[in-house]
Amino acid sequence: MSLVVCCSCGSPLECDDVELIVTLACPHCERELTLEYSDSSKTRRRVVLTVMEGPHWVGERFLVPVGVPLHVGAAQGNWLSLDGDNVSDRHCELRLTERGNLVVEDQGSEAGTWLGKVRIKSGRLEDRQSITVGEFRLRVDFQSIDGAGAPVAPAMVDDIATALPELAKVRADETAGTWMARNRFNVSRWFLTVFAWLTGAYHWSYLTMVEDWAWYRAGIAGVAVFIVLADLGRRVALVHPYMNHISLAVLLVLTILDITWNMPLAAVANFVLILSIALLALRPPGLRQAIVGVLMGVAAITTIGAGSIPRTIEGLTQYIGSFKW
Ligand SMILES: [Zn+2]
Repeated sequence: MSLVVCCSCGSPLECDDVELIVTLACPHCERELTLEYSDSSKTRRRVVLTVMEGPHWVGERFLVPVGVPLHVGAAQGNWLSLDGDNVSDRHCELRLTERGNLVVEDQGSEAGTWLGKVRIKSGRLEDRQSITVGEFRLRVDFQSIDGAGAPVAPAMVDDIATALPELAKVRADETAGTWMARNRFNVSRWFLTVFAWLTGAYHWSYLTMVEDWAWYRAGIAGVAVFIVLADLGRRVALVHPYMNHISLAVLLVLTILDITWNMPLAAVANFVLILSIALLALRPPGLRQAIVGVLMGVAAITTIGAGSIPRTIEGLTQYIGSFKW
């Protein structure tokens, strides 16, 4: 059974690889939805609401967006529209705060909102607690996220595993073979960050020693290249999947700049890195694609490293030696 993402306006949002997406824009109300938060120990978490009992949708899982009021009730246009005799049109409201507090508030429903055996006006839901809304029992799970965004075998245990064997099966199928698909953004970020340091050093040392630029001018160029790439490395796919396309476009611009600055080695390394990121990050790679992507990333880093490290050391030695102590 899949994970459903609905906007607070009630529109279901279609997206591939929902576990890798952090924010989504609703095409109907244009609201930007955030799908995860960081708790006090900086662990990224998602909250999933599962229909445990009810006349329909049993086993359906809904990802709870952060920071927006989420209405639950029988009417259409609610975030979660539950068709039951004892469900009021607008029954209750959920809100997941940016710090991870999930608050429920009854909206004057006839049958009431129940936390266990207690009828509540409002309350805070803990991991694995259930609320009863009319004939429906809804359970919340706070799931931690590993690296790039796949929910790690979380709270789903005992009662749901027996009630819904297919959920347990989905998780059991997640083997090492999918590691690369889940960690492709982490690997891409790592490549971009290491590359940023090396190519920054390359630009500085090449421009100052081969092209005879003034050291500060070459320094500004090197630092600028470093900042742009390191920033991209931090952002790849974090904010929006389009970030990957932007990263590749920036790398392409840098490749062209390197050609005009007469730095063929940097241009080639850049281009190989573009191919690597394109293979790894644009879509979940197959095994062969992942291997080629990783090899290309390593090749790009090795190339720029071989070109930059010796000359940078030489440049720094000269620069330090030029001081009169
Ligand atoms: Zn919407």
